[in-house]
Amino acid sequence: MAEIEDEENLLRSVALQNAQSIRLARQRAEDALRESEERYRSLTQAITSVVWTTNAEGRFVDAQPSWSAYTGQTWEELRDFGWAQALHPDDRERVRLLWEAARAARTLYQSDGRVWHAASGTHRHFEARGVPILNADGSVREWVGECLDVEDRKQSEKALRQLAADLSDADRRKNEFLAMLAHELRNPLAPIRNVLQVMRLTGGNRDAVASAVEMLERQVNQIVRLVDDLLDVSRISRGKIQVRRERIELVSAVNHALEAARWLCNSMNHEVNVTLPTQPIYLNADPIRLTQVVGNLLNNACKFTGKGGHVWLTIEQEGGQGVIRVRDSGIGIAADQLPRIFDMFVQVDTSLERSVSGLGIGLTLVKNLVEMHEGTVEVYSAGVGQGSEFVVRLPVMVETPKPLTPEPTVSEPLRTRARRILVVDDNRDSATSLATLLELTGNQTHTANDGVEAVEAAAAFKPDVMLLDIGLPRLNGYEAARQIRGQQWGKNIVMVALTGWGQAEDRRKSKDAGFDAHMVKPVELDALMKLLASLSAKKERELI
Ligand code: ADP
Repeated sequence: MAEIEDEENLLRSVALQNAQSIRLARQRAEDALRESEERYRSLTQAITSVVWTTNAEGRFVDAQPSWSAYTGQTWEELRDFGWAQALHPDDRERVRLLWEAARAARTLYQSDGRVWHAASGTHRHFEARGVPILNADGSVREWVGECLDVEDRKQSEKALRQLAADLSDADRRKNEFLAMLAHELRNPLAPIRNVLQVMRLTGGNRDAVASAVEMLERQVNQIVRLVDDLLDVSRISRGKIQVRRERIELVSAVNHALEAARWLCNSMNHEVNVTLPTQPIYLNADPIRLTQVVGNLLNNACKFTGKGGHVWLTIEQEGGQGVIRVRDSGIGIAADQLPRIFDMFVQVDTSLERSVSGLGIGLTLVKNLVEMHEGTVEVYSAGVGQGSEFVVRLPVMVETPKPLTPEPTVSEPLRTRARRILVVDDNRDSATSLATLLELTGNQTHTANDGVEAVEAAAAFKPDVMLLDIGLPRLNGYEAARQIRGQQWGKNIVMVALTGWGQAEDRRKSKDAGFDAHMVKPVELDALMKLLASLSAKKERELI
């Protein structure tokens, strides 16, 4: 009896143990499942990409927390195939077809497109991938996949592509510019060479020399203009261009430009109509830069108008603005070219056959210079063959006008007063030709070709004036000037730096070295004469 009882007890305890271990196992399984779900939930919340699962048919049958967080779609909105509504309308059909194809073939699903991003309120680019999970019999149990936000990468790629396009565009424009520059420099050089040949062959025949000189002057002026424009344009791109503003009368600046454009207008047989204001218009402006602006516009009006055309120049005041209008009856500008006409290196016609010269920087200079004076420039043209009009507006000066002090005029100063002039330049041709010019205007000259020679020649020749280049062998111009100024006999010499460098920093350096003035090569004889006359007068006043 007792045995039976023991056996029952044993069975009961085994059953109990079994039940306990089953409960424990179930508990463990439930814990593991909960942990796995929690891990999955945290994972889907932690990663920025969207993770999704569907049933075998490709329907969403469970909540998709990361998809909902990204798109803002509720479970009701996204369930079944509602998720497609979050795609950009233009991408929906393409993505749906890719998904259908992958499901039918039970292979890797890959697509890309734009999906609604609730946080930013925009569509963002994504890349999606999904794989089927298969049962042992090869049938599909479910699909799992992810959508990766690639918007930032797309933007970077776009920016890089744009940069590459800009660089190759800049490279192309640079090459075009260099070709144009070579062409523009060769243009005036060819007649110069021809003229020299003519002079040699005719042996100094008076008529031949006279017309040769005129031509040389024109061609050299053309090169000087080209180089000046180039320097200005390089200063603009480095933000180093300077304007020296003073109170000026607009018409005087315009007149200088008109004078300069006269030859081109005449040679093209254009009729030029000028309308000036009845009252003077005063501006706070740089007269040289303003002349350059009007000069460029007039030059273009002449250049881009066939022979015997019309050019109109009108100056007037409109409210608080001085207005300069340059109009022509020329080739005009097509509407699609108007917006870019002021850009650097832009030329409407860049063909080799084009009949006019230029580098495509004149209008860029005009715009920059006008804007540096707080002004505006606009272009109008009714189209090709319809002529063009450029309108510059500059603020007038508000103060009450004082009478303008006339420019001091110095008439042929070097003829009335001969000077001893020492010309120093390591380019022997430059030194000799300038000395010859100065001799022809009644001066006594001496030349030197390096800094040491300059100091020695100054000591021996005792000049009144020294025209000194800065970049010199052995001893540079600054040092030579310092040494000469250090001597008793060198204190009163009028010293002028003649150099290719004209920046404020270069001018400051030459002033520190003891120069009285700084001129940029090539100098015009007239300007040099005026400068020498005024400097000598100043020195004399100081000596009294
Ligand atoms: P460039 O005259 O050296 O070519 P600009 O910068 O002065 O350079 O002018 C740029 C381009 O604008 C010219 O090549 C020309 O195509 C166009 N343009 C300028 N002025 C006129 C004008 N008055 N009429 C027609 N086209 C013009």
